[in-house]
Amino acid sequence: MTTQRVGRKLALGYSGPKLPILVSVLKSVHPTVTNHPSLYLHDGNVVLVAPLLTSSTEHIAFRVHRSMLSKISPVFSTMFSLPPGDKIEEYDGVPRVDMPDDAGKLEALLQVVYHEVDLPSANMDLHEKCVLKDVLTLSTKYEMDHLRRRIVELVERVWPMTLRQWDRRDRIIDCSKNPPFVDGALPQEDIFPEPASAIRLARDCIIPSILPAAFYHLSRLSIFDDYGARPMLELEPTLQAARWGVLHTEDLHTEDLICLIKGRTQLSLAAAGMLPPIPPCADCSISDQAALVRNLELICQHAVDIFAVTRYYAEKEPRDYKICYLCASHFRSALTTFREQLWQRLPDIFAFR
Ligand SMILES: [Zn+2]
Repeated sequence: MTTQRVGRKLALGYSGPKLPILVSVLKSVHPTVTNHPSLYLHDGNVVLVAPLLTSSTEHIAFRVHRSMLSKISPVFSTMFSLPPGDKIEEYDGVPRVDMPDDAGKLEALLQVVYHEVDLPSANMDLHEKCVLKDVLTLSTKYEMDHLRRRIVELVERVWPMTLRQWDRRDRIIDCSKNPPFVDGALPQEDIFPEPASAIRLARDCIIPSILPAAFYHLSRLSIFDDYGARPMLELEPTLQAARWGVLHTEDLHTEDLICLIKGRTQLSLAAAGMLPPIPPCADCSISDQAALVRNLELICQHAVDIFAVTRYYAEKEPRDYKICYLCASHFRSALTTFREQLWQRLPDIFAFR
């Protein structure tokens, strides 16, 4: 098998024919090492050898520069500066370091470090290839702080951190559902990323800042809108779906599922007594004022998306209410305050701290 062929399979995932049992046994004793097609640099002074996750016998060799990795990673710097042991294992005339990481993940990291590829968009990547997560995981592990910061910023950019940002994104998505935008031609940066894998990423790579929006977005999606269960084409073009399967693949996600259920319940409870009474007014009856508040509470208790419902009422023109302008303004102002406070409470509502 040529180096180039192995390299291509590394990028795509190995799917070659099964080897005879005898050959497999021999190879488990003597694993094969293949040089990476582009990250085996002729003037590199260290070779990192990593196992290929898709094969129990194949390893990939990356010939890189100690100075390059030492500069961006204190972990590599310490590793390379340790006094040599009795026997230094060599590969192709330079020191060999056997890495515990999957070769595919190490490839993703080194491709970014050596500027072979740009970091992918955080919108689409999280629910497709997860390259960003691979790079983030290893940059965290090897304390490549600058690279980690860049990735965290990319991820935070696609998840609204404030209610204002959330409302802006949601308005754009709403507009895209109506003519003339029904063809789904929504700019990628205006799409919510897939929330289940975003929660997984936030948990694994410690990015708690995206959890409020990711949990809330997931809470308003139907369990039937599942990337794993339905073809992508059947789903809304605005990606209003989740990889629900991600949630129960590991123990951690059982906890996240509980957070989600708690959050949904708490959000409906939050509507009870959500607004203070409108102050007495000479032009409006108390019953009209109370009916408005009570009606909104009932709607919110059963709403799938309480922020969308309350935004609609908070933005409704005062003249469109059946109460006077002053009372309507008071109602809208109280509603705006409620929404902001509710957004701030999301970490407690979903109890994910
Ligand atoms: Zn009034």
